[in-house]
Amino acid sequence: MQKDIIIIGGGIVGLATALQLQKDRPQLKILVLEKENEVGKHQTGNNSGVIHSGLYYKPGSLKARNCINGYTMLVAFCAENNIPFELCGKIVVATDDKEIPLLNNLYERGKQNGLQNLKKLTAPELKEYEPHVAGLQGIFVPQTGIVDYKVVAEKYAELIRRNGGEIALGEKVVSIQFQSQEAAVTTDHGVHHAKLVVNCAGLYSDKIARLTSSNIDVKIIPFRGEYYKLKKEKESLVKNLIYPVPDPNFPFLGVHFTRMMRGGVEAGPNAVLAFSREGYHKSDIKLGELAESLAWPGFQKVAFKYWKTGLGEMYRSFSKAAFTKALQKLLPEIQESDLEEGGAGVRAQACDRTGGLVDDFMIVEEKQAINVCNAPSPAATSSLSIGQTVAGLVLKRF
Ligand SMILES: Cc1cc2nc3c(=O)[nH]c(=O)nc-3n(C[C@H](O)[C@H](O)[C@H](O)COP(=O)(O)OP(=O)(O)OC[C@H]3O[C@@H](n4cnc5c(N)ncnc54)[C@H](O)[C@@H]3O)c2cc1C
Repeated sequence: MQKDIIIIGGGIVGLATALQLQKDRPQLKILVLEKENEVGKHQTGNNSGVIHSGLYYKPGSLKARNCINGYTMLVAFCAENNIPFELCGKIVVATDDKEIPLLNNLYERGKQNGLQNLKKLTAPELKEYEPHVAGLQGIFVPQTGIVDYKVVAEKYAELIRRNGGEIALGEKVVSIQFQSQEAAVTTDHGVHHAKLVVNCAGLYSDKIARLTSSNIDVKIIPFRGEYYKLKKEKESLVKNLIYPVPDPNFPFLGVHFTRMMRGGVEAGPNAVLAFSREGYHKSDIKLGELAESLAWPGFQKVAFKYWKTGLGEMYRSFSKAAFTKALQKLLPEIQESDLEEGGAGVRAQACDRTGGLVDDFMIVEEKQAINVCNAPSPAATSSLSIGQTVAGLVLKRF
């Protein structure tokens, strides 16, 4: 049957887009195509589960606007739909003199982004929030929270279906042909027709985008983030969330301690090049995908510029002792024996040809397609707002 809109990708961004479109224009016929047999299996189901406040992002950027707007929308959505969440707050901790100016910049940025009641903390004050932490100074961010994004995505999917939308699981999009008034989207199960295609394919968003346009000049570079879990008897070392001061050259926030909504405390994620786009283990290698990453001129420039940091991340990935040492900067008491293997997630990070890891969310419009080409963290927090933004672009054409 002819649809109005086909959304490729049943992660939190694709589902939020479908939900927002239904809200704005209930009569639209929407189909979500997801290659896995469940929604939210990839980035959405393998992340830190943090509801970000908007502390880090450049004022005025899509990330800042969508995170702040999305935060409010997500919190309201969870409250309305009885999804467990907690606004427990977090601390960001400087452990080195060099980090103090960066910490102050973060504080100012948070204020520019409209965050209320941010609090600068001295070393003794840090301990009032997290008794086992060691640091020189810090910031308390009261807005930050935790949630299980897989549960959120499942609720989006339930509502989409209840509103009459269709979600086809286990259907992988393999090609797209555009005719004058419609797109023919071919999956490994058949062909679907729609007036417009929205690409929210996460780790494969660049590949899907290339099916819709010859002008896509970014490549998704997959960065695996590995986690350890604190052993049950050591969970009391962490009350809520403890973050380092992030390196401003990188789009990642650094290894942190996170109390999870589903229980337990995780430490991570690091950031190492994944040898396949959905490579959750070191041994997951797809030679074609690895070769593509290595051959991309932009990635070669990133690797050349940041080889030292990259090697350090690789070393910590293979050495639990080195990973523990990094964690001890925040929590000196933690020992290697307190940690057991946790899971891993793979970030879809767009990299342009000239060597820039694309920092902001990126949406590329074509005549019959809208491509969400970069939706890294905090896209889970921001999902409803990104959905609203994309839905706005879609509805201009209907
Ligand atoms: C380690 C890690 C930690 C993170 N921590 C946080 C956090 O604490 N807070 C936060 O806000 N964000 C966090 N993020 C970011 C957040 O998880 C992502 O930005 C968000 O989940 C992106 O959602 P998505 O829908 O774009 O991608 P995904 O969830 O990856 O969904 C894309 C979907 O597209 C499907 N797909 C791909 N190709 C095809 C195809 N050809 N046909 C059909 N379907 C296809 C995939 O199967 C997948 O289900 C983290 C991410 C990672 C990896």
